[in-house]
Amino acid sequence: MDKIDVSIIMPMLNEEENVLNAYNRINGIMNATKYSYEIIFVNDGSSDDSYNIAKRICGIDKRVRLISFSRNFGQEPALLAGHKESSGKCVISLDIDFQEPPELIPKMLEEWEKGYKIVDVKRKKRKEGFFKRATAKCFYKIMSHLGAKNMNDTAMFFLLDRIVVDKINTLEECSGTFKSVIFWTGYKTKTLYADRSPRDFGKTKYTLAKMIDTASLSMTNTTTKPLYLGFYISFAMFITTFLLDIAFTVLSILNLLPASLWLIPVGTFLTGTITLVLGVHGIYLAQTFIESRHRPEYIIEEKINFDDEK
Ligand code: UDP
Ligand code: MG
Repeated sequence: MDKIDVSIIMPMLNEEENVLNAYNRINGIMNATKYSYEIIFVNDGSSDDSYNIAKRICGIDKRVRLISFSRNFGQEPALLAGHKESSGKCVISLDIDFQEPPELIPKMLEEWEKGYKIVDVKRKKRKEGFFKRATAKCFYKIMSHLGAKNMNDTAMFFLLDRIVVDKINTLEECSGTFKSVIFWTGYKTKTLYADRSPRDFGKTKYTLAKMIDTASLSMTNTTTKPLYLGFYISFAMFITTFLLDIAFTVLSILNLLPASLWLIPVGTFLTGTITLVLGVHGIYLAQTFIESRHRPEYIIEEKINFDDEK
């Protein structure tokens, strides 16, 4: 395969309304630049017509490639697969619903030419529903407190130089979240800003359960601080309850307070904190368990328009 300038990766899960539109819009944008390019659709277990539409496009345009998973593995594994199979000197990944405008691509390429190895896009404003805005705000606030400041409202819209892509492709880590891994590499980064619009077609593929999964994965992959937090909370609890015990004993001896009044708040506080700490440990334990199995992050069932087609 000839060396291509730009690979454009779009993961898709049941996006039949968006595939053709995405292809046309990207073509329009890229044809106006000097760069050669490939478009890689990663079908993440769609049950609608997304696969067929993408396959038809592959039939008429050999610059379009399709990777199809055996089932739904998730957006992050789809992005990893796209990057592994890409051949561009730089790789751009974005959501197929174009909630962030793909018209930013020429600007990203300009920054890449200046020597930036990573170009990311942060959201200026979200023109979305209250729930999505509130959960996103809450997630990024927690992540920022845990030390992942550079992730703040970053879109899944990146340009990565080949040097970064090759580095990411060598990581053996499974279940890694793509965003945190990109920032972890630490290469010279340029941030662009864009408004996030609502979807034109289709619905979000992130159910509440999927959002919680992704958020907890992101947290455990980015930082081990919550584990230390558990220790600090337990330590603070130990001191507090120790002092409370002394106060309680003294007050009881002096017959100033009935025992039952003290027990309720202390008891519920203790149980709540212990369960919280155990829960955080559970998430890390689950991650360690998943990593220790060394299962692949995705299974590719079919590849179209690649040199090594399956
Ligand atoms: N997506 C995917 N697999 C999934 C969930 C989402 O490939 O399990 C794709 C989806 O088709 C879209 C992108 O990831 O191209 C972002 O998903 P979505 O727009 O539903 O997320 P939101 O923008 O609501 O956070
Ligand atoms: Mg979206």
